[in-house]
Amino acid sequence: MPAYFRQLIDPSSTAMTYLLADPVSRRALLIDPHPAHETLIDALLAERGFELCHVLHTHSHLLPVDRLLPARPLTTETRVHFGAESLRAIATPGHTTHCASFLWRDRLFCGDALEICGAPGAPASPREPCSDPGLLFDSLRRRILTLPDETLLFPGHAHDGRTVSTVAEERRRNPCLATGARDAFVAAHAAARPPEHRHATAQAVSMDSLTHPRKESS
Ligand SMILES: [Zn+2]
Repeated sequence: MPAYFRQLIDPSSTAMTYLLADPVSRRALLIDPHPAHETLIDALLAERGFELCHVLHTHSHLLPVDRLLPARPLTTETRVHFGAESLRAIATPGHTTHCASFLWRDRLFCGDALEICGAPGAPASPREPCSDPGLLFDSLRRRILTLPDETLLFPGHAHDGRTVSTVAEERRRNPCLATGARDAFVAAHAAARPPEHRHATAQAVSMDSLTHPRKESS
C-alpha cells in the first residue's frame, strides 16, 4: 500500500506544509506546519484516522531566547520513525545555524536551504537573509546535490508557482553550485542581502527543534 503524502500551500505566504503517513499503522508526521493549515490538517487526520506522532521543523527564525532549545547534533544516522516508515534527518546549516533537511524515500524536504527554480546564478536562498552563505554552499554541495539526480526536492516555499524540483534540475540551474564556485555564491548572497541585514546576522539565530512529538511513537 503506498504511503500517504500531501503537500499543502498557503497562498498568501507560499509557505508549504507536508503531511506524511504510514497507511497501515496510520501513524502520521508533519513537516513545517503552517498555522494557516491547522484546520485542514486536523480534518485530514480525523477523516483518515491518522495519529500524529511527530512534528518536525526544518528551521526556525527569531524565537525568544528563553524558548531556545539546545541544538541536537544531527548525524546521518538520525532517523525519525512513524509506523513502518522512517525518514532521515540531515544537518544542512547555512540558512540558519541549525537548519535540517529530511530525506524520505525519493524525496527531500529542505525548508529554506534551497529556493527551487530560482534564476540561474542567483543565490539559492534569497527569500530571507542567510546566516552563513559559505556554510549554506557547503550544505547544498555536499549534502543536498550529492543525492541521486532524480531525488525530489520539496522546499519551504513555492517559487513562481513551482512546488517541487529535482537534484538534477537544481544542479543545472545554478552554475555556482554546479562548478563549486563558493566565493561567487557567497558574493551573490551578500549582494542580494537587504542592507539592514548585512550586519545583523547574529540576531537571526535559531533553535531548531528536531522533533516535537505530540505522542510517543513506536
Ligand atoms: Zn527561513
